[in-house]
Amino acid sequence: MTKITDHIKASNGKPIFSIEVIPPIKGDNLKNLLDNIEPLMEFKPPFIDVTYHREEYIERPLPDGTIQKIVTRKRPGTVGICSAIMHRFGVDPVPHVLCGGFTREETEDFLIDLHYLGIDNALVLRGDPAKPFSTFKAKENGYTYASELVEQVANMNRGIYLHEEDTPLAPSNFCIGVAAYPEKHFEAANHDIDFHYLKYKIDKGADYIVTQMFFDNKKYFDFVERCRQEGITVPIIPGLKPISTRKQIQILPKIFHLHLPDDLVKAIEACENDQQARQVGIEWSIQQCRELIAHEAPVLHFYTMGKADNIMKIAREVF
Ligand code: FAD
Repeated sequence: MTKITDHIKASNGKPIFSIEVIPPIKGDNLKNLLDNIEPLMEFKPPFIDVTYHREEYIERPLPDGTIQKIVTRKRPGTVGICSAIMHRFGVDPVPHVLCGGFTREETEDFLIDLHYLGIDNALVLRGDPAKPFSTFKAKENGYTYASELVEQVANMNRGIYLHEEDTPLAPSNFCIGVAAYPEKHFEAANHDIDFHYLKYKIDKGADYIVTQMFFDNKKYFDFVERCRQEGITVPIIPGLKPISTRKQIQILPKIFHLHLPDDLVKAIEACENDQQARQVGIEWSIQQCRELIAHEAPVLHFYTMGKADNIMKIAREVF
């Protein structure tokens, strides 16, 4: 399959349309997810990201007064969904690969499965803290930062596997993406520190960047400019999420640690229902996309959150 960076090169400066999908909640239907995104194939996404959702912990009180900790997973199935996307749509899937919840050996097995399936792209992430905890804790013999996982994947690409004396073995061929935050990662004390560690991820072998969602393009433009000043030369893909409910103006800043422009907040607050809010979100996103295209953003990458109708309307206007 083709690497994301090669898709970008092959586009010759024409913006690429791409999406991110979330695995269905356990017990739900994969068919619904695929049927939902099928209409978006009209815009020929060369790749589709599939998120990964780490384990969560439920605490159950037992009759003897102790607490039983149960590990559960709400949205399993990332690898299977990637395979289904590849075979149904002939599109390159980009599985998200996390540090959180994995030992490095489990990660290696996960990457080997992807390699066997012919999946040559991976978005490498630390992951958020396991629910209900508020701080990230690496699994024993796992990684604390995405840069460490980038290094493991880059080593596999050189044929260096864990605990193998007779290296190099046959190398993998992953194109490695990493995440970045135009408004700063919430744990970083300041932008300088965040850029320092972003550069470190690139130096360890990352090939491209995908940004957190933003609603003011200036944040993306400033971010790209600073990256270039720091010597980060890889493609920087803007992540976009059209607002689709009135509640999101409260929820999104809290969950994703970002700011919404006053004009957008006012426009959503003036809506009488979610249908109107959805329309405002579509129009805002169309303007964002047009400006990003004018500034030669390589890809417009949409966080679908499982819904495609608003993305369809936006894509029709801008591609
Ligand atoms: P890192 O790059 O490791 O950075 C985390 C923090 O540590 C930052 O503040 C950074 O400045 C700091 N830092 C980095 N290296 C060091 C170091 N060596 N020493 C000290 N500090 C350091 N989460 C999921 O669970 N599943 C997903 O599928 C998923 N997909 C995502 C897709 C995108 C495009 C984005 C932007 C985020 C996604 N996330 C996902 C959320 C992501 O996992 C969280 O934002 C997480 O908190 C940080 O991940 P990271 O890879 O950016 O971490």
